[in-house]
Amino acid sequence: LATVGGGATSHVAILARALDIPAVAGMDPRALELPDGTRVLLDGGMGQLRINPSPEEVSRIIQAQARLAAKKAAELASAADPATTTDGHRIEVFANIGGLAEALQGMQLGAEGVGLLRSEFLFLDRATAPTEDEQTATYAEIAASLEGRPLIIRTLDVGGDKPLSYLPMPREENPMLGIRGVRIGLDRPEIFRTQVRAILRAAKGHPIRILFPMIATLDEIRSVKGLVEEERAKLADSDPVELGIMVEMPSTAVLARQFAREVDFFSVGTNDLTQYTLAMDRGHPKLGSKADAINPAILQLIAQTVAGAAAEGKWVGVCGGLASDPQAVAILVGLGVKELSCSVPAIPMVKAATG
Ligand code: PEP
Ligand code: MG
Repeated sequence: LATVGGGATSHVAILARALDIPAVAGMDPRALELPDGTRVLLDGGMGQLRINPSPEEVSRIIQAQARLAAKKAAELASAADPATTTDGHRIEVFANIGGLAEALQGMQLGAEGVGLLRSEFLFLDRATAPTEDEQTATYAEIAASLEGRPLIIRTLDVGGDKPLSYLPMPREENPMLGIRGVRIGLDRPEIFRTQVRAILRAAKGHPIRILFPMIATLDEIRSVKGLVEEERAKLADSDPVELGIMVEMPSTAVLARQFAREVDFFSVGTNDLTQYTLAMDRGHPKLGSKADAINPAILQLIAQTVAGAAAEGKWVGVCGGLASDPQAVAILVGLGVKELSCSVPAIPMVKAATG
């Protein structure tokens, strides 16, 4: 997949990664002028599209593909083993999913749970929102498929670059800084309350946790918790559910200790944390290569998040794209991150990278 728009963490790239399709985003628009039939070589690792490659280049790539396939096979062979560093430190490797199929695939590849169910995928591509009963059934089905492994369900994270046709949003000057994620839930709570009730009902008998996206202020998490409590009070029979927030705004990382008093866990969304810290749109074709979560400013914010959480006895996972980057695994583990939630195809590789 080669696109002239988007960046490495825009949602098209996330879908490509989940499907294990080599992809390069944000290419020179002249790529659109290539005549049909031009031989090209797409190198997703290098982020390059090479035109009319020489026979030597092609044979180099074929050899590299064979080496990669052998490495993948070796990683797959040990994917069911727990991820442990050479000094015996255990890391949980979870899956990022959009639905049941990916949950099943994730477990085959060694996932120890689901760290991020992007629930918006259940709301897209349809004319109306799924009902409470439909959602309850879907969440319970996914949880049951995990055979006792934990399932972290993120509440609807639309707006910004993910519009919903049946939830018309007023046009905004800067949608990425507007009513998106949990802000929609607070602004128009009906869809949010329905979803919360569905999750609470599915959590009866399943290890489900709830994760809230785009929390920037303490007020927001307190309001959200208030809504959850109100909905739980309406249910005849419900167990307490662990609540977590995405850390994807610099403000949340900076005030991690205060937020840690409000919730049970954090999940760092490096895709948005990077765009909001560096002021670089994650979907911008020119800035994409610079909007890299391995930037020391982002790592510093993750360290601050872990320290704030630890001070209150809470734990931190990472579910943004950085968790699927084998080069970042040692850094994240060293910073004290306990759980890495990855795109499904990356799970064996990330597990291998911890050893
Ligand atoms: C993130 O921002 O890193 C994240 C995991 O959420 P999404 O990519 O769905 O915005
Ligand atoms: Mg995000």
